[in-house]
Amino acid sequence: MNATMSRRPTMNSKVRDEVSVAIDIRDVVKVFGAPPVEVRALQSVTLDIRDNEFFTLLGPSGCGKTTLLRLIAGFEAVTDGVILLYGEEIEDLPPNKRPVNTVFQHYALFPHMTVADNVAFGLERLRLPEPQVRESVAQMLSLVKMESFAGRRPNQLSGGQQQRVALARALAPHPRVLLLDEPLSALDLKLRQAMRGELKRLQRDTGITFVFVTHDQEEALTMSDRIAVMSQGELQQVGTPAEIYQRPENRFVADFIGAANLIPARCVEVEGEKATCTWLSGERVEAVADKGCRPGVEVALFVRPERLALGRASGDGHGQVSDATYLGSSILYEIALPNGTLVRVSRPAEDSEAYQPGDEVRLHVPVGQLRVLST
Ligand code: ADP
Ligand code: MG
Repeated sequence: MNATMSRRPTMNSKVRDEVSVAIDIRDVVKVFGAPPVEVRALQSVTLDIRDNEFFTLLGPSGCGKTTLLRLIAGFEAVTDGVILLYGEEIEDLPPNKRPVNTVFQHYALFPHMTVADNVAFGLERLRLPEPQVRESVAQMLSLVKMESFAGRRPNQLSGGQQQRVALARALAPHPRVLLLDEPLSALDLKLRQAMRGELKRLQRDTGITFVFVTHDQEEALTMSDRIAVMSQGELQQVGTPAEIYQRPENRFVADFIGAANLIPARCVEVEGEKATCTWLSGERVEAVADKGCRPGVEVALFVRPERLALGRASGDGHGQVSDATYLGSSILYEIALPNGTLVRVSRPAEDSEAYQPGDEVRLHVPVGQLRVLST
């Protein structure tokens, strides 16, 4: 899209260009309605989305993901704060003047137009000569592997095919940023999984910055360069999939991404990054400290099920096996602690020792695998 951006310089534009920031979101607040029925959809969000990045906004329904996309697209105005696109303030730019396009959950193709005309529609505004439009449409349809469907109408296509056409239409004007609001959620699971790879490839091939919205953690982990986890209008953590999975910064993130154990403990001593805690039957254990842990504070120790191991016990166990589920490559155990907490432990299925419900066990954890989460 050749939309001309206003050339109003901003204080930060130079510095931010150097780190290739595509979207710079500063202290953004969005309030809908007015007291007493106001909704604070975004509390105060500060976030950099980099150029050429596959960036995902992840969080439960109602946490503010769509609102943030609509602010970037220009369908809504911020209540407070500022959004810069490639260093330029965009507050006064209407949606069609922003170098941004959106793909919605429901593909919204024009039913009376052919696939080719639907894709060409996004180019119309640019007033390109006809041969160029035709070439661009062909290119886009080939990019989404829909060349042979150019003459069909949307009702002659499956859901997945329609969503591909919607993608081609949104990509055709070459926006610098593509916003995708749960574009896969209307598709069945198998198609959704296949489309993950396709979207990732499209992003890589086009070099367009993708801002992808989903409530599906698996989708976020498999596709993204970086993820922002949101809850109730607030950012919880921003990081790569590995950072978010391995080093969640609070209980919400730990619990929302994958399977997490949050085992009650008490902090005894903190020395820089190292915290000593008491847990289970009162024994001391070392964990990676977080900002909030102080001696005497009740905390949770975070550990993934695949990081824990089990050992047999008689009389000195930490808990009892309450469930054992065979999953093919692994066995998932549930261990009930005396205080009622359930701890999940995942072991490779070929592990020599198998445990049965009722067995008394001890939990073992390799050094460095526990993290304190005090909030
Ligand atoms: P998500 O996309 O993460 O599911 P939304 O951004 O759609 O969440 O909504 C965030 C919050 O803002 C919700 O509580 C929602 O009800 C509210 N909200 C969204 N749009 C409006 C609106 N136009 N008027 C009033 N409240 C709204
Ligand atoms: Mg939404």
